Amino acid sequence: MSKDLENMLDVIRSEAKCTASYTGREAFDKRVMQAIQAVDRAAFLPSHYKKQAYDNSPLLIGHGQTISQPYIVALMTDLLDLTPEDTVLEIGTGSGYQTAILARLAQQIFTIEKILELADSSKRRLKELGYQNVKVRCGDGYYGWKEKAPFDAIIVTAAATHMPQNLLDQLKSGGRMIIPIGLPYMHQELMLASKDKAGKIKTESILDVAFVPLIVEDSAVSN
Ligand code: SAM
Repeated sequence: MSKDLENMLDVIRSEAKCTASYTGREAFDKRVMQAIQAVDRAAFLPSHYKKQAYDNSPLLIGHGQTISQPYIVALMTDLLDLTPEDTVLEIGTGSGYQTAILARLAQQIFTIEKILELADSSKRRLKELGYQNVKVRCGDGYYGWKEKAPFDAIIVTAAATHMPQNLLDQLKSGGRMIIPIGLPYMHQELMLASKDKAGKIKTESILDVAFVPLIVEDSAVSN
């Protein structure tokens, strides 16, 4: 393992300890840490950012969008409590980095990206990297992916102003959804929504975060 990657994993571990009083997780699951170790963040970045790939910070990926901070990727992934049998819906494919991590932890990943160029490049990248359990769609993730629902877990990697009912409806009983909620470029909270066996939703605020906004408008969907 490179020194830079080792440092990045150490930073994730120490951030997890520092934020444990909010997140309730002093350390992340071993499988989550192994997946993060196995996915080279540099492979998801434009060439001029590759040197910073292992910094614990978000970086620009084009079209005004970002690849999230590695600690936040680890935290959101850990909070989903994935099992190898799970089917996951991701909203906001971006570079495909988070998608690749999910693909190592669950059976099937359906991911939706609003910006066509990002959807196309992440689809190509994930295919080249050999991820066969991922389907990328270009469209508006606010509406979810009804034909593939219900999902064991849903992860939204852009900030919504409210909890989207379409996504809650597409969550299985016993499922979990992690989503940043708040106004664009203002106060946002990472929220965890859990659906119990009776279909009742419980929400919990985990931590303050800063995400790019979820772009919501009617749009055509293309596969
Ligand atoms: N997880 C990504 C990664 O690992 O690179 C980073 C995601 S970035 C913070 C948020 C992404 O959400 C952007 O690529 C943006 O285009 C996308 N997005 C915003 N609104 C969306 C929507 N309504 N549906 C689908 N994707 C959306």
